[in-house]
Amino acid sequence: MIEFYFLTFYFGAIIGSFLNVVILRLPESKSVVTPRSSCPVCHHMIPWYENIPIVSFLFLRGKCSQCKTKISWQYPLVELITALAALFFIGFGYSGLSSLTVIFFKFTIFCLFLTHFIIDIKHYLLLDVLNLYLAGLFLFYGFFYHSFIFMGLGAAIGGGIPYLVTWLFYKLRGKIGLGGGDIKLWAALGIYLGPLGIIHNIWLSCTLGALIGIVMIAFKVISRDEPLPFGPFIIVVAVVQIFKPDLIASFLTNFIGF
Ligand SMILES: [Zn+2]
Repeated sequence: MIEFYFLTFYFGAIIGSFLNVVILRLPESKSVVTPRSSCPVCHHMIPWYENIPIVSFLFLRGKCSQCKTKISWQYPLVELITALAALFFIGFGYSGLSSLTVIFFKFTIFCLFLTHFIIDIKHYLLLDVLNLYLAGLFLFYGFFYHSFIFMGLGAAIGGGIPYLVTWLFYKLRGKIGLGGGDIKLWAALGIYLGPLGIIHNIWLSCTLGALIGIVMIAFKVISRDEPLPFGPFIIVVAVVQIFKPDLIASFLTNFIGF
């Protein structure tokens, strides 16, 4: 059994290594398959033994083997998070063939969320292509588990309410509040979360974003005019809603009372 856990963990690390390439190249519309990875500073081609997930970073002590430029912590971190997710979803989640689809559905959703999250922090971008993949997966899943009314209403509310608010805000203040990517992400999430779930997400992620924004301004991490990427808040709330739904339910009943 220990070999199985180790295999799922390392499978996750390899997927994480691929996600790092996606995070690096997708915002620049470059191919995620070719060319092979090289150091961005000295362009030294990275051989396979310097490209082993997690292990190589430790072995190289976080530096390029040629020019000694520091390698970003993002690389081993994404590999580790994806490895732990694979261990959690596949290693511990596996209980027969029938659950295999659900397991891979959940793991893929998690990978897309992680990619979205980091690209938004780095570039203030929620890419359409990732929103489309999410919407496609949610539709596929919903085809078996949800009604079309549930999915349609969720998507309409998820896209509609934030769009209306942004439009009103623009008419009143002449400023764009939310990005189009945030609105599209909510529309996609609405397919899976349904009408009530997406309202919870909009409300909780706005609250979370406002709270963290205030704290970051108070501690001078960011200035008052500096925008925060909003996608990460939507994603953090969605991760809890999708993977730990009972936590949201008990939070809503115990603390808010509805
Ligand atoms: Zn280098």
